[in-house]
Amino acid sequence: MSVLTGRKLSRRTRELHALTEVAKTLTAQLTLPDLLDAVMSTLTDALDLAERGVIMLWDQSSGLFRPEAAVGFDLTIMREMGLRAGESITGKVYDDGHPRLLATAQEVEQDMADMRPANRAVRARAIGVDLLPRGALAVPLRVGERRFGVLMLETVHQPVRFAAEDLPFVQTLADLIALAVDRARLEIEMEAIRDARQADRLRSEVMATLSHELRTPLAAIKGYATALLLEEVNWPDEKRREFLQLIDDECDNLQRMIADILDSSMIDVGQLVIEPQPVRLPRLTREIAEEMQRRTDKHHIVVDFPPDFPIIDADPLRLKQVIRNILDNALKYSPHGGLVVIRGEVRPSDVVVSISDQGVGISPEDLIPLFEKYFRVKSPTGYHVPGTGLGLPVARGIIEAHRGRIWAESKVGQGTTLYFSVPCTGLSSDSAPYLASNEAGQL
Ligand code: ADP
Repeated sequence: MSVLTGRKLSRRTRELHALTEVAKTLTAQLTLPDLLDAVMSTLTDALDLAERGVIMLWDQSSGLFRPEAAVGFDLTIMREMGLRAGESITGKVYDDGHPRLLATAQEVEQDMADMRPANRAVRARAIGVDLLPRGALAVPLRVGERRFGVLMLETVHQPVRFAAEDLPFVQTLADLIALAVDRARLEIEMEAIRDARQADRLRSEVMATLSHELRTPLAAIKGYATALLLEEVNWPDEKRREFLQLIDDECDNLQRMIADILDSSMIDVGQLVIEPQPVRLPRLTREIAEEMQRRTDKHHIVVDFPPDFPIIDADPLRLKQVIRNILDNALKYSPHGGLVVIRGEVRPSDVVVSISDQGVGISPEDLIPLFEKYFRVKSPTGYHVPGTGLGLPVARGIIEAHRGRIWAESKVGQGTTLYFSVPCTGLSSDSAPYLASNEAGQL
């Protein structure tokens, strides 16, 4: 066997080995940067002439090439490089889509002559010396018409340089790398599409549920109004009053639901303004309790505030909304009636209001997402209680805008207590308007 044949054989064997290794690496379940890193190590190990190498990917958003993996370069330093389109060897190979074999130092120098000094300085720092390679081989990374970047291999010390016969092999490796980049990017795009679809589906579901919930009181209003308008029926006064009362109640329900939907959007965009002023919470609470008591004779609402309860600094309309939402739930979710107690407690720097019912209760798992938008406990009995799942998130938005806290305790079958705290003072003395914001669970 001649020396030449021997060299060729061992070279073929090495190429085949490198190809197998790179292909094996590319099938590993790694993230793209780790994958390219592993490929570069395999490649430079297998190819004696490739003493240094870097994979430069084109980044559309910055309009620059970004080093993704490197051997013989400090990748962290290389990332400071801002190689533009058409610049240096990488830019040219990417632009014309053809590999470049630079067999002499002069050819390398010529193709790198337009590299901006700042980039050249970064390159020198990344390899520890300002020395251009003796030879280089740069091949485009592309799949069909889709171009991703350039694989650049450099010979630094070896007396032998890359030759034309090295090209098919390196191009095959580059094609494998390009396929991996393509696959990873497709996966990212697919993920984004899946996320967008999921968000779309969720939005449609929410819209469908909200529309359905709004239609329930509307249907009742329409039904009673139509009944009252029937000319052939002469309703007794008592019946007329009852129907009008039901219409009035359902209008209140509708109003509350629409207010919650609007306020929830305002909270999401940070536009719910709190206007603090001195508030007598016991009196305000009693007003709401009386109003709600008129709606039910199954429940008995008790208000219990200590006599020395302080005047607090808060937005009375917004606090009314919070208490109404919580009290409304206390009645809705205790279908058999019972006692509902609203209690006030004074602490050194804040006040706490609790609203307890003897209703169906909430399980520990359902207490966790209780204040998330659109969350509603699935009723095991299938009995449907109208609601939007926005009452508590809106209450939380309002309370947090008062720098307070809201929380719940419950036992299934025994009842629920909702608590909220608000500081006694401090809101009015601040000049900035208070904006509620709801970061959790936005759609
Ligand atoms: P909804 O409009 O559904 O009442 P909320 O945000 O006010 O929306 O409440 C969310 C869910 O929390 C309700 O659907 C209900 O399942 C549960 N919940 C709230 N308050 C109570 C309560 N007092 N007792 C039992 N379950 C409650």
